Amino acid sequence: MALVGAKTFKNYIDGEWVDAASGDTFESTSPANGDTIGVFPKSGPEDVERAVAAASAAFEEWRLVPAPRRGEILFRFAQLVTDAKDDLTDLMSREMGKVKAEAGGDVQEAIDMSYYMAGEGRRLFGQTTPSELPDKFNMSVRMPIGVVGVITPWNFPIAIPSWKIAPALVAGNTIVFKPATDTPLLGERFVELLTEAGVPKRVVNIVHGGGRAVGDALVRHPDVPVITLTGSRETGVQVLKTAADELKRVHLELGGKNAIIVLDDADLDLAVDGIIWSAFGTSGQRCTAASRVVVQRGVYETLKSRLVQHVEQLRLGVGWEDDTDIGPVINEGALEKIHSYTEIGRNEGADLLTGGEVAHGDGLDKGFYYRPTVFGDVSPDMRIAQEEIFGPTTALIPVDSFDEAIRVANGVQFGLSSSIFTRDVNKAFRAIRDLDTGITYVNAGTTGAEVHLPFGGTKDTGNGHREAGQAALDVFTEWKSVYVDYSGRLQRAQIDNLDE
Ligand code: NAD
Repeated sequence: MALVGAKTFKNYIDGEWVDAASGDTFESTSPANGDTIGVFPKSGPEDVERAVAAASAAFEEWRLVPAPRRGEILFRFAQLVTDAKDDLTDLMSREMGKVKAEAGGDVQEAIDMSYYMAGEGRRLFGQTTPSELPDKFNMSVRMPIGVVGVITPWNFPIAIPSWKIAPALVAGNTIVFKPATDTPLLGERFVELLTEAGVPKRVVNIVHGGGRAVGDALVRHPDVPVITLTGSRETGVQVLKTAADELKRVHLELGGKNAIIVLDDADLDLAVDGIIWSAFGTSGQRCTAASRVVVQRGVYETLKSRLVQHVEQLRLGVGWEDDTDIGPVINEGALEKIHSYTEIGRNEGADLLTGGEVAHGDGLDKGFYYRPTVFGDVSPDMRIAQEEIFGPTTALIPVDSFDEAIRVANGVQFGLSSSIFTRDVNKAFRAIRDLDTGITYVNAGTTGAEVHLPFGGTKDTGNGHREAGQAALDVFTEWKSVYVDYSGRLQRAQIDNLDE
């Protein structure tokens, strides 16, 4: 497989591997040590135009391929990703920075999603209902929509494309895919494996390049009726506004400011494990990262000292080494943003308990490493408790009661994930009911979704859609209601059935 080195890669458009029309390129480099991963086409609207034309033409044939056949291609794809799992895992540690176990999990999620959606080829259930009139048959069926513009972030560079592309394909849509510029090789490998699995030419196209030059052109294109974007709130708002002119269907998965609640009766060792995994896994660069820990005062001091003790044992390093706990953050801009929040937290009067600095030495100087950071005595209105930092920083917020914990957890603009550690089943169920998020965990951290349940959030985390599970199909299909009258006479609904 194509691996690290200064190899030049191409777009895949109209069934051919091609350069950007402009001939321009950009480099992907490793956040772990600065190694060059590859050189990629820096595309623009002209390339998007060609890719959309190819995907539009392919739609006319792909929509007529029986769904079980489309599913069989996804089964083969899932198998190929399984075979390539070790290579993809290693590449992800190098191109994106995740530690090996998490990179493997990212790849596994794509395998699981592809198998799940492959099975949809033999389901894609609609409904049949009785008719209010005699000799009449009613049903609803899912119809594909057309070309889907897929725009993805860098933090789950194999999993997120699968969440979008697998359901879109099995439903009969065609694809123009724009991966993040920080992880283009993983996007390229994803498409290579799809073509190897037998996805026909033109059905999937990949166009590399920036959000403004490629993403925006895709969002504006009149022949792309569906846009699915995972990214920041700011990008989501921009995309939604742009897409409004064409009344497009826009599916948005945006930011998070997720809270773990720890009540006085919690298993504290378990809670510490959950916090470490959720706050510092993927260096805190998950939409479901626990960047707030809301702790009842009875256990606040104990939890604080146990957590800090554990955090100080975490080892920073390159993701592909077995004993690394925390890898780099994605790029220099991210490092600066994360550190600026440490300054903000300090200035706001929060108590910096550990971390709070760029990590140097021990081979870390060539990459972007930040010490895992914990703030104590944070009040809910501080910026570090309100804004998405997207780095290895978490804020401990003491509270007096269960009700206050729920109020604080809900008191942010996002609503992706939440969690509660308690041994009281009544409080657990009240939290499940009252936490205003798309996902709630009991006695587990804020991260760990499985592919067969809906994934997404309330409030500013999105615009009401969900990916994964059956819910994903709602993004990529249009419902058609069908009435078949076999009475041989004109029967008028709402009129003739009342006359008899
Ligand atoms: P980003 O918004 O900067 O970029 C996401 C994608 O959008 C990239 O491919 C980018 O090139 C593209 N883009 C940027 N501007 C665009 C424009 N004007 N038009 C069209 N496309 C444009 O986000 P990021 O930094 O890559 O990812 C981090 C963000 O993603 C965080 O906010 C995180 O919470 C969010 N995220 C959410 C989920 C979820 O499921 N809710 C999952 C992962 C990440």
